[in-house]
Amino acid sequence: MRATVMHAAGDVRIEDVSDPTVIEPTDAILRVTRACICGSDLWPYASMQPSETGQSMGHEAVGTVEDIGPEVRTLKRGDLVVMPFAISDGTCQFCREGLNTECVHVAFFGTNGMNGAQAEALRIPHADGTLYKLPVGEDDALMPSLLTLADVLGTGHHAAVAANITSGKSVAVVGDGAVGLCGVIAAKRLGAEQIIILGRHPDRIALAREFGATDVVSERGEEALERALELTGGFGPHSVLECVGTVPSTRTAISIARPGGAIGRVGVPQEEVMPASQPAFYKNITIGGGPAPVRAYIDELLPDILEGRIEPGRVFDRTVDLDGVPDGYRAMAARESIKVMVTP
Ligand SMILES: [Zn+2]
Repeated sequence: MRATVMHAAGDVRIEDVSDPTVIEPTDAILRVTRACICGSDLWPYASMQPSETGQSMGHEAVGTVEDIGPEVRTLKRGDLVVMPFAISDGTCQFCREGLNTECVHVAFFGTNGMNGAQAEALRIPHADGTLYKLPVGEDDALMPSLLTLADVLGTGHHAAVAANITSGKSVAVVGDGAVGLCGVIAAKRLGAEQIIILGRHPDRIALAREFGATDVVSERGEEALERALELTGGFGPHSVLECVGTVPSTRTAISIARPGGAIGRVGVPQEEVMPASQPAFYKNITIGGGPAPVRAYIDELLPDILEGRIEPGRVFDRTVDLDGVPDGYRAMAARESIKVMVTP
């Protein structure tokens, strides 16, 4: 079969690799019908050291179950499922608490040698816990939105939950990528009254407004801070969603947050040390977040997609087949595209 393999920064290839097979009795084989390229794939695309074997890429998919091991109980061949980005057994104490990304068996697709979803098929460990069966057909018109349940919608929702968004409060979203845009959807779902998007790309800002953003801050640094305070009665938003993960974005999130406010961070931190520790301390800011347990959020988010209340699939503005994946990476890195869908 064919799969996407990254060999070094900027070097993404489509290669013939061996077909995945059931190894453990709890495995399934997923035939990928839709996958996508993630903003987090752009970090290795920018900085990966050359590798002899390369890394199989992709951690978001919808597909059909092609084969199952003898101990898979809840899935059968032909089932249409969402593949969240993390493996979880669904039974350990963390999974039972809804924190599947801290599962005792956790691993992340498309990293550290795990197979990836920008491929025709892949092996799914702990299939009963990891996969989520969808109640629709393979060609459903809602497929782009359903695909966002694999990562970006659940991740935006996690930021909103970690930032303690409650009805009537003000929220700022740092980052106008697919996760930030889904954070706007999540903030609105949870009842935020004012939703400020920090970003400057006209197409992304337009989509953020359609998703529910009420204000836009396109300034940077000190000016962004002043503008955000001005929009929130001088004190800053109650909740801030940090959807980037860089030092400047984290510093911005902390500097604009209202005293006593909360920050939900879902951008993968690019530095070991968190910036702005002292302002965060003196303002009594709560900082939460991490890898989103998107598997646990599907029950809550799926009905809003099926019943048309939210349309997160609008973050996809380009679709490619496998041969188009390398150019998809280029387009997202150049910010020509918000998010690229892959139909293998
Ligand atoms: Zn678990």
